[in-house]
Amino acid sequence: MALTGLEIFKLLPKTNCKKCGMPTCLAFAMALAQKRAKLEDCPDVSEEAKEKLAAAAAPPMRKIVFGSGDAQVQVGQETVMFRHEEKFHNETVVAASVSDKLTGDELTKRIESVNALQFERVGTKIGAKAVAVLNESGSAESFAKACAAVNDGCDLAMILVTESAEAMAAAVTKVKDGVPLLAFAAADTAEAMAKIAKDNGCPLAAKAESVEVLAELTEKIKAAGVEDIVLALDAPGLQEQLYGLSKMRALALKKAFRPLGYPAMTHVCDGDGAEQGATAIGLICKYSSIVIVDTVEPYALLAALTAVMNVFSDPQKPVQVEPKVYPIGEPDENAPVMFTTNFSLTYYTVESDVEASRVPSYILVVDTEGTSVLTAYSGDKLNEKTVADAIAKYKVESLVKHRKLIIPGYVAVMSGKLEEATNWEVMVGPRECSMLPKYLQEAWN
Ligand code: SF4
Repeated sequence: MALTGLEIFKLLPKTNCKKCGMPTCLAFAMALAQKRAKLEDCPDVSEEAKEKLAAAAAPPMRKIVFGSGDAQVQVGQETVMFRHEEKFHNETVVAASVSDKLTGDELTKRIESVNALQFERVGTKIGAKAVAVLNESGSAESFAKACAAVNDGCDLAMILVTESAEAMAAAVTKVKDGVPLLAFAAADTAEAMAKIAKDNGCPLAAKAESVEVLAELTEKIKAAGVEDIVLALDAPGLQEQLYGLSKMRALALKKAFRPLGYPAMTHVCDGDGAEQGATAIGLICKYSSIVIVDTVEPYALLAALTAVMNVFSDPQKPVQVEPKVYPIGEPDENAPVMFTTNFSLTYYTVESDVEASRVPSYILVVDTEGTSVLTAYSGDKLNEKTVADAIAKYKVESLVKHRKLIIPGYVAVMSGKLEEATNWEVMVGPRECSMLPKYLQEAWN
């Protein structure tokens, strides 16, 4: 938690020597608290004060990174309880599991199913970002073999799930370069698991049955030299899990309680795909940074990933598409041209209705800072000038030989000024874009 100016002042030399450029130590402390000055500007600050100030400036929840290369993921570093207070920073990682009881074709098939859990939603690629290998066989050798097979057959970040230090030691060497997340260290295995994590440069998940024991466990792991820790609360049911996750988050963010200042992970293993998908959504909302599911049903994963997308979008920033000209189908120089705004929902609704018309077309997307047609028009972000500028910027005149522009029916009022600004003939389209297929087939064809 950030220190106040007075708290910082107590740590300064209090000599008022002015070497920092400030008239007094108190003025420097106030400037530091407001981030208008840097601690290095005071040459006389003690090492002890430096440590205390650096610790206070550290984020209340540590960022944890695992996986490597393109598969690297990061979780944690959250600063608020509720999205509307600011935004959430690092998306929940949804991981699908692979049991080490599987061998041969069954194992290959399961890995292929995990690889297939990638989707596209409103123009954004979403998917499982990690794969969790479960040591269900009880054998260190089988676990190591399954981890090696998953490492070879899957490009996602890996989570190695075993409570046996022997199995973890055998498996981690198979995927060492992939920087897997090691799960789990319990009270009786903390030292052995921490040694494996430290020796291999991997983050370690700590698991305990209560928040209090978990806090003690993370301190033990940290004392053993592992800083990158993930919290796993072994709660008996979803209600207790959600309560524990909320409590840990509040203690970390509101009370700056460092032993719980780490992201949390959960494992959904009960029920069919639908139940697992629903449970995962609850955990994504409050506040699991990593959710392992045992299902590879696409419908369950897509629902959970859609929740991730929504929860982690910036509430102050509408989801936008890139302003440019989008060809739909294979339009030629006679194809209709229409415009819409770069609010993602608006664009994809228009795109789907244009596709349904089967009339190859160009959609010109005007930059309205992610607002919808009527909002942009009433805020003067959509006017004859912004449309004319977009036509020029994206060279629409070079795409078609006609000069006809279909505009949304809701902004028919801008027709006259738009014709003057562009020298294009304006055709007023329907107010509702669900009517676009009929309109394009009748008015254009
Ligand atoms: Fe105080 Fe340090 Fe500034 Fe001197 S340089 S006035 S000791 S804060």
